[in-house]
Amino acid sequence: KKENGNGFGSLKTTCCYCGVGCGVVVHKDRNGKLSVEGDKDHPVNKGMLCSKGMNLHYTVMDKSDRLFYPEMRLNKSLQRQRVSWNEALDRTVSVFKTLIEKFGPESVAFYASGQCLTEEYYVLNKLVKGFIGSNNVDTNSRLCMSSAVAAYKMSLGEDSVPVCYDDIEHTDCIFVAGANPAWCHPIIWRRVEAAREKNPALKIIVSDPRKTQTASYANVHLQIKPGTDIVLHHAIGRVLIEAGDIDASFIKNHTEGFEAYSKKVMQRTVAEAAKICDVSEQSIREAATYIGSAKGFLTMWTMGLNQSAVGVNKNLSLINLNLITGYIGKPGSGPFSLTGQPNAMGGREVGGLANLLPAHRNLANEEDRKYVQAFWKSGAISAKPGYTATEMFDALHEGKLKAVWIMGTNPLVSLPDVRKAEEALKKAKFVVVQEASIKPETLKYADVVFPAATWAEKEGTMTNAERRITYLNKIVDAPGEALPDAEILCRFAQKMGFEGFDFKSFADIYKEHCALTKGTSIDINALSYDVLKAKRSVQWPINERGEGTQRLFTDKKFYTPSKRAIIHAVDDDNLSESTTKYLPLILTTGRIRDQWHTMTKTGKVSKLKQHIANAFLEIHPDDAAERSIAEGNLVEITNGRGTVRVKAKLSTEIKKGVVFLPMHWGKILNNDLNRANNLTNNLVDPISKEPDFKFSAVEVKGYKKP
Ligand code: SF4
Repeated sequence: KKENGNGFGSLKTTCCYCGVGCGVVVHKDRNGKLSVEGDKDHPVNKGMLCSKGMNLHYTVMDKSDRLFYPEMRLNKSLQRQRVSWNEALDRTVSVFKTLIEKFGPESVAFYASGQCLTEEYYVLNKLVKGFIGSNNVDTNSRLCMSSAVAAYKMSLGEDSVPVCYDDIEHTDCIFVAGANPAWCHPIIWRRVEAAREKNPALKIIVSDPRKTQTASYANVHLQIKPGTDIVLHHAIGRVLIEAGDIDASFIKNHTEGFEAYSKKVMQRTVAEAAKICDVSEQSIREAATYIGSAKGFLTMWTMGLNQSAVGVNKNLSLINLNLITGYIGKPGSGPFSLTGQPNAMGGREVGGLANLLPAHRNLANEEDRKYVQAFWKSGAISAKPGYTATEMFDALHEGKLKAVWIMGTNPLVSLPDVRKAEEALKKAKFVVVQEASIKPETLKYADVVFPAATWAEKEGTMTNAERRITYLNKIVDAPGEALPDAEILCRFAQKMGFEGFDFKSFADIYKEHCALTKGTSIDINALSYDVLKAKRSVQWPINERGEGTQRLFTDKKFYTPSKRAIIHAVDDDNLSESTTKYLPLILTTGRIRDQWHTMTKTGKVSKLKQHIANAFLEIHPDDAAERSIAEGNLVEITNGRGTVRVKAKLSTEIKKGVVFLPMHWGKILNNDLNRANNLTNNLVDPISKEPDFKFSAVEVKGYKKP
């Protein structure tokens, strides 16, 4: 294949890493060499890029790890061979048809990625929900923001992020709960820093068991014990109520549930709460005072709240603080979940999880199912939610699920209790892996491999954390015979004999998706590729003049049946596993600044390894001393699920009794002892089904090589 005829010049696109969604300009010289810079005209980043964004072009130019051709094997004892697209697709169609005929549509499942473009997500959902006939399609966004999705629905009536990034410049108080945006959403954090440079009165509260770079910048750092977030949020709520720092008129006219909430938060004194959270009572009162005296109040959160056995309750208890103070639907105020994945929001728009329908329609509602079925001209859509991410691998393990199609994600690094997930893939009758890179561990188990195009090699759209849809240009051709994900899925669907997948272009797919949003809360029916290209980006929903919406709920009307927001009086128990005499430490996992997820892209860039090159265990010096561990010692972290062996990094910045492992590393030359998810547990939140990555019981000891 030749370059696509764009020749040299510059094209605009969007960064493919985090949910901030920064605008990027890619320059291509006469030799095809790429370089990138931040798009100065983009409203998100205004020309800025973080270290990952600045090095995007290397990930595209380096083709050394790419999959170039389809491969397949006829049985598990054989090596895969290069085959044609037709052979690989025909074999997949034949196996899927046989399994569906013999075991029903629920015997196959698709596991995709929050990095998929909206068009890819749309085709995948249409294929599975409309035509295969089950809801067995989930993505790694389940591991990232499904608790926030559930909490938004329960409190605001729909999965609707009410705020925009510009609110950072309009607020005077930000509560960052369980997040480290200075490392994980750097451009948002740069905007926070700039806002405080302009307005030194801007107060920042951070709750985190680790003193991260974000926490170091805070006016109050609430270094809580993992799992005590709800107790903390309730205590702040209590102080606000007692001080009269609530919006009684907003509560009376626009919410439900305040009385029960008020009773609930009065059940513990602030002193008791402080003891449970292991922070000072003074610091809780100080945080509440900042909130109570602010003119605008933003809550920001990510995985510290979401990735928990009580993730939904943690989210609800934080959103409550916005609701009791009336800090929502006005500039500088509102709850703001920071999405980890670049297009987790776009995926939600098309119903890209096992329990959703397109355009925020309700899978449990028969009318909604029938509407989508008629629109797609498909078979009946099942009312039964499909397997979620972890359920899928459990079902493979139990033999209920026979085949899985893994698309653009690396579950053998990213799923909790990952050795169990690996056993599940070994047991699967048929595994399809649709991937750009040869690196993911899943390839070892693949019966069929589809080579996929990656960022800059295909066009499409993504939606960032503030509901902003942007268009991504195709800049170079994909190498070898790699194809865009949407095209692979359409070819498969057509070979399955399904109608409605003969799209002529990505614009056609996008147009169909937009038409399906008509009349819903995310209506973008009038937003064509041409409008998007001209405007560069638009926040949904759009009005009849094609203008986007910066903030939701400015009219104080919520999407609940009563139009009131719901204040939930949630229990404050933590349902994580318990530490024991033998497993006394709490393991929490997370990201480091310069790596992204399982490093299939950022791991290719040598500059990004300069920050932190290897996996490590962060441990408090007191915990280390009790175990005779010194800085740089090799240590073994264990529990009943597995072992990790890395060097110790002693730090007073982590809470005593808590240890931290970065989540990025997988197997290196058959050594999987860097993989944090060997140790994480398979508990999930009962509503969102998001795993409890932030709380696993472990023990650590020094390790000497035999
Ligand atoms: Fe990309 Fe996120 Fe960095 Fe922006 S902040 S450049 S979207 S990784």
